[in-house]
Amino acid sequence: MQPQSGDALGAPVLLIEDERDLALEIREELLGAGYRVECVQTLEAGLSAARRGEASVVIVDRMLNGADGLSLVETLRSEGNLAPVLVISALSTVDDRIRGLKAGGDDYLVKPFALPELSARVEALLRRGAATRATWIKVGPLELDLVEREARRDGERVDLLPREFKLLEYFMRRPGQIITRAMLLEDVWNYKFLPQTNVVDVHIGNLRRKLDSGDGRRFIVNVRAAGFKLDAES
Ligand code: CA
Repeated sequence: MQPQSGDALGAPVLLIEDERDLALEIREELLGAGYRVECVQTLEAGLSAARRGEASVVIVDRMLNGADGLSLVETLRSEGNLAPVLVISALSTVDDRIRGLKAGGDDYLVKPFALPELSARVEALLRRGAATRATWIKVGPLELDLVEREARRDGERVDLLPREFKLLEYFMRRPGQIITRAMLLEDVWNYKFLPQTNVVDVHIGNLRRKLDSGDGRRFIVNVRAAGFKLDAES
């Protein structure tokens, strides 16, 4: 593999975790994977470390001596800090996961997890980091210009309504991940409760018609009994 800018080697990771044994294990794993690691145990220390803006990835536990790590993510986002954040938590319901992603977390890993899984998630966040912070996103032949609010497929402009644009952006920020209808209703439509509605399917149908240009290629594919995912990398 060619070395690239943004190479994972030596990238600084900030770990905010108050369980000492777990923090040590994670640190060991990440050092072994070639990262530099700064460990802190409290929300306050994590916030001031994150505010220095050096960390390429922030890993934060949700339960920090009675404080919720998600409040740190919300604070950082409200300050315009877009460092990729991996939330780790013993809270494992779909609601908890959605709350973690809605607070601005980029990924959510449920405890207990295998340490190599954590490394793999950190690596994925680093790879994605550059794209998500930029003013445009590119996944396979799909491109979004977030400033001009323009979508392109194979370089050709695709006219999208604002909601369709938001929907596509949501998928393009999570390529290959399973996206449930509940996630879309909460995050793209901002529903606080989940109504019985086919609004998601209707909009995805419209978006597909605009993206798919008759060559049989489908970018947003169904995942049986789960939802959808964006398949645009090949
Ligand atoms: Ca904890």
